[in-house]
Amino acid sequence: MADIIQLLPDHVANQIAAGEVVQRPASVVKELMENAIDAGATEIRLIVKNAGKILIQIVDNGIGMSTTDARLSLERHATSKIRSADDLFNIHTKGFRGEALASIAAIAHLEMKSRRTDDEVGTSIIVEGSKVLSQEAAVTPVGTSVSVKNLFYNVPARRNFLKSDQVELRHIIDEFHRVAMAHSNVEFKFHHNESELFNLPLSNIRQRIVNIFGGKTNEKLVPVKEETEMVKIEGFVGKPEFSKKTRGEQFFFVNDRFIKSPYLNHAVSSAYEGLLKDGYHASYFLFLKVDPQSIDVNIHPTKTEIKFEDEHSLYAILRSSIKHSLGQFSIAPVLDFERDSNMDTPYAFKNKDVSQPRIEVDKDYNPFRSKSEQASKSWQKSASAGQWESLYVGLRSEGGDQQKEGSSFEFESDALTSPLFGEEDTKLELKTFQIHNKFIVKAIKSGLLVINQNRAHQRVLYESYLERITVKEGVSQQLLFPKKLGFSSNEIKIIEDLTPQLVQAGFILEISAKDEIQITGMPVEMNEDELELVLQQLIRDVEDQVPGHNFSLSDLIAKSLSSSLSIKTGKKLSVEEQEYLVDKLFSCKEPNISPFNVTTFITLGIDDLEKKFT
Ligand code: ADP
Ligand code: MG
Repeated sequence: MADIIQLLPDHVANQIAAGEVVQRPASVVKELMENAIDAGATEIRLIVKNAGKILIQIVDNGIGMSTTDARLSLERHATSKIRSADDLFNIHTKGFRGEALASIAAIAHLEMKSRRTDDEVGTSIIVEGSKVLSQEAAVTPVGTSVSVKNLFYNVPARRNFLKSDQVELRHIIDEFHRVAMAHSNVEFKFHHNESELFNLPLSNIRQRIVNIFGGKTNEKLVPVKEETEMVKIEGFVGKPEFSKKTRGEQFFFVNDRFIKSPYLNHAVSSAYEGLLKDGYHASYFLFLKVDPQSIDVNIHPTKTEIKFEDEHSLYAILRSSIKHSLGQFSIAPVLDFERDSNMDTPYAFKNKDVSQPRIEVDKDYNPFRSKSEQASKSWQKSASAGQWESLYVGLRSEGGDQQKEGSSFEFESDALTSPLFGEEDTKLELKTFQIHNKFIVKAIKSGLLVINQNRAHQRVLYESYLERITVKEGVSQQLLFPKKLGFSSNEIKIIEDLTPQLVQAGFILEISAKDEIQITGMPVEMNEDELELVLQQLIRDVEDQVPGHNFSLSDLIAKSLSSSLSIKTGKKLSVEEQEYLVDKLFSCKEPNISPFNVTTFITLGIDDLEKKFT
């Protein structure tokens, strides 16, 4: 019988290898970013379209490649980083297997351009499924640019296996975070579908962490520093009071490589012993430097798991240095750089202390008293007043003069001294009226004001919620009977993350089972039967966010609630309601646009009107 064993053709072998290295678009991002780092780049740009399904491009200003090297780099086991097996135990670079480019080229359309500083022209190579379609001289900046298009175009099973853009993008952002955090001395930019997700300038580690995770992170960090013969530890751990029920930001880097290590994770959590409530997790960003000879990074194709020579000692050192830091620094926030004002709380609230959310329990609450008696205790305004008065509640707390001040909003077309509602106008008590249950029209000195009731109320509610969430405590109305609502475990997780802000906004809630939330209080504007819808909408709004992007939770909640709870088009309003809404709108900080950036009102000047009659 004939021999039956054959050597696989290269392109097949490459495809098989690709399966190990490239699981999803994020793997490509990781490998290409690591190559850029290994090439000594100081600026790295990541450009992604449709979560990497259409394009992943990395542009670096590293050392570049010669024409021959560029061609060779696409071969399997082609690497400039190690030469012999001995080198495997002295790795100073991210890559060393020489597999990444070959693997990626086997399952995508790849275009590479590269030039070294001393070369006048560079080279450009186009490859499709391991086949080199062209290689030619090209004018290109120093460094390397690799574009990967149509990932898995020839492996439909893999392509179909990809998750939604949202999920794939989340993975990409995770990988981006990991590389960017480990290299704060490199500048990173990240664009996704024309929008800039990250722009990270050179900085120290702390600033890089803050630039990635938002300005609020800074005050939560406790520095950790320890140097022993076997390891140098640097980085930050989160203050216990900021721990979360979800495992949030937990990062280990060993010699600037992100790794996963349940064992070392245990060392960190054991350092928090007695400081965290059950089921809570602290964040950490820890950078370990060890002798490359004391670790083995070659145990996993993606190199996120490594073996330490002396794991037990490492555990002990890590644990004790974190304990020490927590003991030393558990007091005041440490600011070590200028704050980026973009990251601060919007509006005028920046200078005020952010108060910890507190839940007020109505000690006088008596379930056997009547509802209206009850309500007048815990509401600012009696619940028996007309429904429309809910517009007032919670907004009047600033006192009367705010309203007056707000009414003197000025139009560009008016003289600088002329208030919107001129003195005579106020005396005349100009009435408002509603048209099509959609617009409120009011005569003003200079003509006519037309307000979109829905958008105007969104603006009013938005500012009111934002203020409550960021500065004051929310005004709650107690529910007569606690309400239980069912959610999926994912949804519960989202609510859990939002809880501090929701409490500030006026909710009183607790997670009563793994798929259930019990609500005992809610913002005064709300009706009990709206609860579920409002929370569902909020969850959807959170899910719609681009993950990892520095959006503000407070802003998001304020927007979501304002949209859910605002008076809608089609609702008939009494004259008082109309007047109130107009007043309230013009005491807002940005009355002219809704929280979603659309016009809330227009004015028709006398001149415009005159023109119509000519
Ligand atoms: P590895 O990184 O494991 O060596 P890769 O397949 O990722 O394997 O890359 C192969 C080789 O191509 C690298 O060893 C390096 O010499 C070269 N190379 C890849 N990307 C770049 C880049 N961005 N700049 C310069 N050289 C690169
Ligand atoms: Mg590599």
